[in-house]
Amino acid sequence: SVIRRSDYRSPDWLVPHIDLEFDLDPALTRVRAQLSVTRNGGHDHPLRLDGDGIVPLEVMVDGRPVSPDSWHLEAGALILTLPGDAHLVETLVELVPESNSKLMGLYASGGLLCTQCEAEGFRRITFFPDRPDVLSRYSVRMTADKARFPILLANGDPIDRGDLDDGRHWAVWHDPFPKPCYLFALVAGDLACNADQFVTASGRTVQLGIWVKESDLPRTGHAMTALKNSMAWDERVYGREYDLDVFNIVAVADFNFGAMENKGLNIFNSRYILADPETATDIDYDGVEGVVAHEYFHNWSGNRVTCRDWFQLSLKEGFTVFRDQNFSADMGSHAVKRIEDVRVLRAAQFPEDSGPLAHPVRPESYMEISNFYTATIYNKGAELIRMIALIAGPERFRAGADLYFDRHDGEAATCEDFVQAMEDGAGLDLGQFRLWYEQAGTPRVQASLIHDPVTESVELVLEQSLPPTPGQPVKQPMAIPLRVALFNPVTATHHGDELLILTDARESFAFSGFATPPILSINRGFSAPVIIQTDRSQADLAFLSAHDDDPFARYEAMQQLMVNVLIARTSGRPADEQAVVDAIRYTLTDTALDPAFVAEVIRLPSEAYLGDQMTRVEPDAIHTAREALQTRIGVDLEHMWRDIHAGTKANIFSTSPAAKGARKLRNAALHYLAASGASDGPAIAFAQFSEADNMTERQAALGTLANGHSAERDAALDIFYNRYCDDALTLDKWFQTQAFSLHPDTADHVAALALHKDFTLANPNRVRALFGAFSANQWAFHHRSGKGYRMVADCIIALDKLNPQTAARLVPPLGRWKRFDEGRASLMRAELQRILAEPGLSKDVTEQASKSLN
Ligand code: ZN
Repeated sequence: SVIRRSDYRSPDWLVPHIDLEFDLDPALTRVRAQLSVTRNGGHDHPLRLDGDGIVPLEVMVDGRPVSPDSWHLEAGALILTLPGDAHLVETLVELVPESNSKLMGLYASGGLLCTQCEAEGFRRITFFPDRPDVLSRYSVRMTADKARFPILLANGDPIDRGDLDDGRHWAVWHDPFPKPCYLFALVAGDLACNADQFVTASGRTVQLGIWVKESDLPRTGHAMTALKNSMAWDERVYGREYDLDVFNIVAVADFNFGAMENKGLNIFNSRYILADPETATDIDYDGVEGVVAHEYFHNWSGNRVTCRDWFQLSLKEGFTVFRDQNFSADMGSHAVKRIEDVRVLRAAQFPEDSGPLAHPVRPESYMEISNFYTATIYNKGAELIRMIALIAGPERFRAGADLYFDRHDGEAATCEDFVQAMEDGAGLDLGQFRLWYEQAGTPRVQASLIHDPVTESVELVLEQSLPPTPGQPVKQPMAIPLRVALFNPVTATHHGDELLILTDARESFAFSGFATPPILSINRGFSAPVIIQTDRSQADLAFLSAHDDDPFARYEAMQQLMVNVLIARTSGRPADEQAVVDAIRYTLTDTALDPAFVAEVIRLPSEAYLGDQMTRVEPDAIHTAREALQTRIGVDLEHMWRDIHAGTKANIFSTSPAAKGARKLRNAALHYLAASGASDGPAIAFAQFSEADNMTERQAALGTLANGHSAERDAALDIFYNRYCDDALTLDKWFQTQAFSLHPDTADHVAALALHKDFTLANPNRVRALFGAFSANQWAFHHRSGKGYRMVADCIIALDKLNPQTAARLVPPLGRWKRFDEGRASLMRAELQRILAEPGLSKDVTEQASKSLN
């Protein structure tokens, strides 16, 4: 049951047109499909229509029932032997949307009926060649009870609608653009609309609709602004216009991931649509903006040009993440966005790349494609596009993108097609660069500077290595673009930033005109997704943390300074904590800096990131060292934290970048003030919690309180619960804050929360809020007793029976066992084995758990 990239064959049959008729009801929906099919090339293979959990009630060819001996079912698929080269195939199936707990195919959520088809959900709706290289024009007719489902939406344009005399009504939609079936969507429900318009560059007026339940309408404004900004940005930056007369977005409460780019009808997890100051943090606002943009941008990078097969997933996802990252940077701060994106890459993708689930950006094989919607495909994929853009420069990159869209519009393309278009359109040679798509793992680059005072020159020696990953024991050297600058330590200037491309295992680059040894600033802007190892001293790092003119490099120098101190302390070596305190003080007093940037720079690396820097992760020692440094920073700079906290209190709420930056710094100050152990810490946090007019400050205060014991902690959790217990998205924060807290009893709190009346496995957001947050909380999850592992495994086993896709997402933290002491490692392996022994385990969880044991 392993699917291989090398097994790709073009489809035997094409489906130029499909007519769908839905008689919708949560308890029993009938789906009639009429496919016009044409033989693709000279062969005598039967027509294979994928199916999953459906049975044909009727099978007709060219209007006549077919004899039972010309069709059969094989692994869920309908196999039909057809005499000619073009036929009309008709099937009828029945579905029960209200008992679809997998949330793939047609399902019910909060009184709505909606669909999710990517990657292989369409086969749960009707029999069809469920592969992205079969593109069809869709006509969809829906009939439903008018009182319960007054709104009927599908892809494309609304064509016609009418009432029936039995209280039911119908609507017909037609999508003029041929599309793969993973982009099919329909929604039926009682929805209210935030309606707006956008006029495209060529003068087409597009009707925009964001559809939510009536009471959520006031929370849709930010998403609508983000949508209009995205449409304008794609025209300005990529020359890409929207292509239909309507663009609809629907928010649903039960959704397996973030959102889905169905043509003309995006369907969203409501957490990426709904936002208001009372319930959404600034991070939530940014999430809404970024995901709305991401799904909109897919209209070109994903829909107009789609993927040939699922091994090419990063073709659309990596490119679209790159596009949404740059959009968000343009809407706010480039420096802060880059830091945030690298933090996500390091927190999610680097561990994946160094563990048992490591895979290339273009994988070679899979058992279950749902398991490959990973940080590697998305975030590392985006870094690959970013490197191409850096090497090409903006004009040539745009020329390459134009050629890609023009050449492949209306097609199902490959990653290779993209690289080829970039070579042809941008005039690049990406020969060696292609290895980034093939080789898994995070490259290491060792950099050392050798200064020669006689010739007044320096030599930069770069050595690269790429560790083995599953199935790839030996690697070839990669093409690694590194932006470099050499600082004069006296003047704190440099002679310009240079782009070096490291192509060999070991290479050296010479620079002249250095009477004194310069300080190396490397991988500026995080120009390549690699791990840099240097012999720079703490003094050099402190210098760069104060003077580097590349904001990312400045942040990175501070992080490295902190990491060095913390790792030293963790292993009982002496560490100069004063250097960190001084560097933070310097940063806080640099008034030229954006407060949002300051808040990023002064933040300590997470416990998990520190663990990633160690061969053997020691969760308790890391926690102790980090807490101690945090306390030291809190105590030594206490007056500054008090001043910042008081001085950043705003009178009126705004979501401007400046206001968001002030809140970020204010929350960082509160955090350090509480860490100082000052006796009024809990009272100040509680006051912020009570007085805040926005969720950003309220949740940060709650998070600060949740880390320790205090009467204020218990009171704040109670107040928060009572205020938001009827608002699912906000109640998620109550679960998440406790699961993520650095409280000594977090594992026990999570065990109790799993039994709370508001906890449910039926809602993926709730599961992620509790168990997703908990398993990312290194100190708590890796409790030496193993109770954290057991709880997560129990959840995986229970959830697998309802929703395998979401269950499988909880497996990877258990697969990190090789990095821990034998006590923890054997407990983790035992849980993986217990999961695998479960009868009837899904393909999703089987793949993740069995690979995790290797
Ligand atoms: Zn996407």
